[in-house]
Amino acid sequence: LPELTGDLDTILEWADEFRTLGVRANADNPEDAELSRGFGAEGIGLCRTEHMFLGDRKQIIQTFILNDDELIREKAVADLYEAQVGDFYGMFKAMDGLPVIVRLLDPPLHEFLESPRELDVGIAKLEVSGASADVIAEKRALLEKIDGFAEQNPMLGMRGCRLGIVYPILPVMQVRAIATACARLQKEGFAPKPEIMIPLVSVLPELAKLRGVAEATIAEVAEAEGVELSIPVGTMIELPRAAVTANEIATEADFFSFGTNDLTQTTFGFSRDDVEGEFVPQYLAEHLLPYNPFATIDPGVAKLVEMGVELGHEGNPDIVCGVCGEHGGDPESIHTFNRIGLDYVSCSPYRVPVARLAAAQAAIQQR
Ligand code: PEP
Ligand code: MG
Repeated sequence: LPELTGDLDTILEWADEFRTLGVRANADNPEDAELSRGFGAEGIGLCRTEHMFLGDRKQIIQTFILNDDELIREKAVADLYEAQVGDFYGMFKAMDGLPVIVRLLDPPLHEFLESPRELDVGIAKLEVSGASADVIAEKRALLEKIDGFAEQNPMLGMRGCRLGIVYPILPVMQVRAIATACARLQKEGFAPKPEIMIPLVSVLPELAKLRGVAEATIAEVAEAEGVELSIPVGTMIELPRAAVTANEIATEADFFSFGTNDLTQTTFGFSRDDVEGEFVPQYLAEHLLPYNPFATIDPGVAKLVEMGVELGHEGNPDIVCGVCGEHGGDPESIHTFNRIGLDYVSCSPYRVPVARLAAAQAAIQQR
């Protein structure tokens, strides 16, 4: 793994003496976690668990979503549970002694279900190649089911906490895996510090319900494993409604992490998936702003973050507030977050050194 050495390491150590903003990393595998740690990350601010559900596991999610049969669903979840215990064990061990915020599954469903268009093409090819009627019928049935789930705007649909509200068996599985990995490491003499984060919350009852599920599951594991578990539960603030009602939401949150990617998308009403496309970047640059608001925090979005922090403290004076959108690694945005009074920024591993430096510069300039 690359490491910081020589003058750069020394300069960043000096920077650390001045900065007041914490710097964490966004990572979802032990290698990236170790890499971030080597770059000076003080924890993992965002572990995107949907990234752990790629490859074969993607198929398991599809099986789960498309099947009404309880037994098939339970089998899929049991398979996922086994895999997740290992995932979390590796993450917590790599970050021994430092906080790791694990975000519960936040997959827009179109990323987990087979593409209807590709399936359709596949069926046409099967027909041409003279495949058996049974095979073709099976594919057609699959296509029909997937079509039934297709949403016009998957990024505004069944994702984030909404998935866990509809299928509580999923958050139970993930929290059980987090708590079990934590318990095992504690018994082995390590000091794991997991935290659980609920994504895409817009109203208090969503968080309250999933927090309840998480707490009950943690308590069950603690009893079964015969250990004490202390695992904070918090939420992403990534929808304007959550930011402006943060005083309510904070009553059920130990921490807030501002998801400025989605917050920018939903505040402007521009799709974040089209920033690389034709219209959005051109329109933004020609008619709206001299910067890309998905890279550098926009003052309007920053105002929502500031409001969220202030209101959040009204609802819970001890709430810890950070940011884990892409802006967390952008120097200009870091100056804004420092002024707003966030506790930490979390960014991709390779941005950690730059974030440490920018946080120190912001602290010095804003003294
Ligand atoms: C965000 O929305 O800013 C965020 C960090 O979550 P994700 O990018 O995974 O949607
Ligand atoms: Mg998000």
